[in-house]
Amino acid sequence: MPASAARSAARSAAPPPGDRDRIYLGGAWVAPAGTGAIAVEDPFTEQIIAHVPAGTPSDVDSAVAAARAAWPGWAAAAPAVRATHLDRLLAALTAREDAIARTVAYELGTPIRLATLIQAGLPLTVLRGYAALAAREPEPEVVGNSLVVREPAGVVGAITPWNYPLHQVVAKVAAALAAGCTVVLKPSELTPLVAYLLFDAVHEAGLPPGVVNLVPGTGAEVGAALAGHPGVDMVSFTGSTATGRHIAHLAADRVARVALELGGKSANVILADADLPRAVRAGVGNVMVNSGQTCTAWTRMLVSHQLYPQALELAAAAVAGYPMGDPFERGTRIGPLVSAAQRERVRGYLAAGLAEGARVVGGTAEVPARGYFVPPTVLADVDPAGTVAQEEIFGPVLAVIPYRDEDDAVRIANDSRYGLAGAVWSADPDRALAVARRLRTGAVDLNGAAFNPLAPFGGYRQSGLGRELGTHGLAEFQQVKAIQR
Ligand code: NAD
Repeated sequence: MPASAARSAARSAAPPPGDRDRIYLGGAWVAPAGTGAIAVEDPFTEQIIAHVPAGTPSDVDSAVAAARAAWPGWAAAAPAVRATHLDRLLAALTAREDAIARTVAYELGTPIRLATLIQAGLPLTVLRGYAALAAREPEPEVVGNSLVVREPAGVVGAITPWNYPLHQVVAKVAAALAAGCTVVLKPSELTPLVAYLLFDAVHEAGLPPGVVNLVPGTGAEVGAALAGHPGVDMVSFTGSTATGRHIAHLAADRVARVALELGGKSANVILADADLPRAVRAGVGNVMVNSGQTCTAWTRMLVSHQLYPQALELAAAAVAGYPMGDPFERGTRIGPLVSAAQRERVRGYLAAGLAEGARVVGGTAEVPARGYFVPPTVLADVDPAGTVAQEEIFGPVLAVIPYRDEDDAVRIANDSRYGLAGAVWSADPDRALAVARRLRTGAVDLNGAAFNPLAPFGGYRQSGLGRELGTHGLAEFQQVKAIQR
């Protein structure tokens, strides 16, 4: 069968999800207050594949009222009851695993293998973890004559981005529900369809009405209304640093609690004694995941100046192993970027980097005729203080930067307004750990260690406030009370 026929066969075996015209409030699919719609585009075909309602502030009012009404009952429910509901939700969502992967391949362009593994697999793992944590009776802490207890924070407004569109939703919703909070979710307007699958599962699982509510819409309309709503006790946001700052201002007016998961520009510190081919290959792979649209991507690779030419050669060879193409074709490793605007943004950064003296050493592949592609690119001679080393590009672009010695590597790594993730490679595990401890960042992976979905996840500096995942993520949704006896 010719490749083009195989491609269309793979797509036609999985037709795109259709239009949705309801929002989810108080345990029911209801008509939104307004008549506006948001068109969802497939970034590979550049065609509109579905529409969802453009919610309004009036929908936010209704959703917050539903969440407030549900809160006393859900907050008072026994941990075992909440856990049973989350187990049912897990079963209903697991039954949709294939549909989740396909939907994300359509609305975001994630290659189907990765979509199955991460876009569908990771949120199921996170939900399973929170169902287990929800079952645990919180242990009161005794401090002198005080009994310290944890209580649910209240009604949560959750606002999420498009790059891991179900994982980022589940990381908030599952933790909030496990803690006894109720939720109003506004997913990204670029990828709202997968959130609809979650709410189909919520409905099927029979969660108590109002415990979790869905209002799709734009950030300016629905996101701002939710972040500024007096009935929302806590805003949990994932997205860009610029929007996070705005949301923090909106919440500050009523001193509402805020959790922010923001941008990153993480450093991959390859020490001189490391296994260079392995470290470079893994470093390139880390940046190319999800076509570079990953907040934790190690977009600055720091290499000893003596090994710099060798590292560039290795990186150029590695990047050639990332073919671009139809997300539904199993050999594709790089899909299109999410939108035409995102492609222009990434192209703009590439142009700025070249104007500032960087040169392309790998990744000159021809882009497919349609779709919002940027070829996977390795840049050398990047000024550590320049645009492409300082700004989050959010595309398949790796900057390789030489350092003089270990102190210089740590200095360059920490020379960033961000501090979300990072990596250290060394033949000596103690040395790797010592360098990891000097990095001002929320997470560091040593020698390619696996991502741990139970470990705290979040940023230093302008990468955010607070932590998601595991017990730390649960604690974000709890208030602490001291009772003196
Ligand atoms: P974004 O900030 O443009 O949008 C995120 C969400 O905020 C969307 O739902 C959007 O509609 C909403 N929004 C936009 N303007 C708003 C406003 N004025 N008021 C309220 N809500 C508003 O981010 P994005 O482009 O969707 O996502 C990419 C960004 O997310 C990158 O910077 C990336 O690093 C970051 N990110 C961070 C993490 C993390 O955990 N730290 C994870 C993934 C993505």
